[in-house]
Amino acid sequence: MKKLDGKVAIITGGASGIGEATAHAFAKHGARAVVIADIQDEKGQQVVESIGAHRCKYIHCDVTDEEQVKGMVEWTVNAYGQLDIMFSNAGILSGSNQVILDLDFSRFDRLFAVNVRGMAACVKHAARAMVDGRVRGSIVCTASVAASRAARVRTDYTMSKHAVLGLVRAASQQLGEHGIRVNSVSPYAVATPMIRNEIGKEAEEIERLATDVMPLKGMALKAEHIADAVVFLASDDSAIVTGHDLVVDGGFINQVAAIQ
Ligand code: NAD
Repeated sequence: MKKLDGKVAIITGGASGIGEATAHAFAKHGARAVVIADIQDEKGQQVVESIGAHRCKYIHCDVTDEEQVKGMVEWTVNAYGQLDIMFSNAGILSGSNQVILDLDFSRFDRLFAVNVRGMAACVKHAARAMVDGRVRGSIVCTASVAASRAARVRTDYTMSKHAVLGLVRAASQQLGEHGIRVNSVSPYAVATPMIRNEIGKEAEEIERLATDVMPLKGMALKAEHIADAVVFLASDDSAIVTGHDLVVDGGFINQVAAIQ
């Protein structure tokens, strides 16, 4: 018996990085259906091909549009009969220098629309489907080490990820009576396209910089490590865990007051 045998899951931001690695992990652990929701249609279809169309589907969904989020959840329930797992993971950065003195509000609204409102819309509609279907489901949101520390030059991103923890804490309290669990996973630096594009460095360089400041030595932090944590939170292995933020960072945040 695999950890996610027979489960139906949605992954937002599943076309790339942490979402993509988690789609592979969900399939490996026996999920019956993995629905990848993203705005990068071509990349999403490539992930479907690499996992196999018999158990993986792609759906275009911009999480900033509540109607699209509602439609994505309804499509999944219609296609597979229920929704067991929502991995609400889509998120963006807004630029390298968003210190408060120079905060660019033209980027601020988009960042909040994706990282906060989009996250809340996914939790809302997943929870509605789980309540209506009497499913004791698991909802996992991607926060960040910037959810419990300040990212020095990223005011907006720090604020948005702190909000994710607020969402998880509130929703976990409200949904507990339905047997629905809500948790977050908080990665430190993983060399995904988001980080590579933002800081303009190769994956190996990002991994080396991150490893240098992690107390836990001997391995680089990879998207697959985050995926393993999500599998734990999505599965019955964490059956009594809710409202929790699982930090996956090689011990990094325990030694810093702020993140570079
Ligand atoms: P990524 O860019 O590789 O993947 C993010 C995916 O989200 C992309 O496929 C993108 O198309 C999708 N997306 C963006 N806006 C969307 C929208 N409006 N609707 C639907 N999909 C959308 O980046 P990643 O590093 O895998 O990021 C995944 C999550 O992890 C994000 O929430 C990010 O904030 C968080 N995170 C990443 C790191 C890291 O070091 N990579 C650290 C902490 C937290």
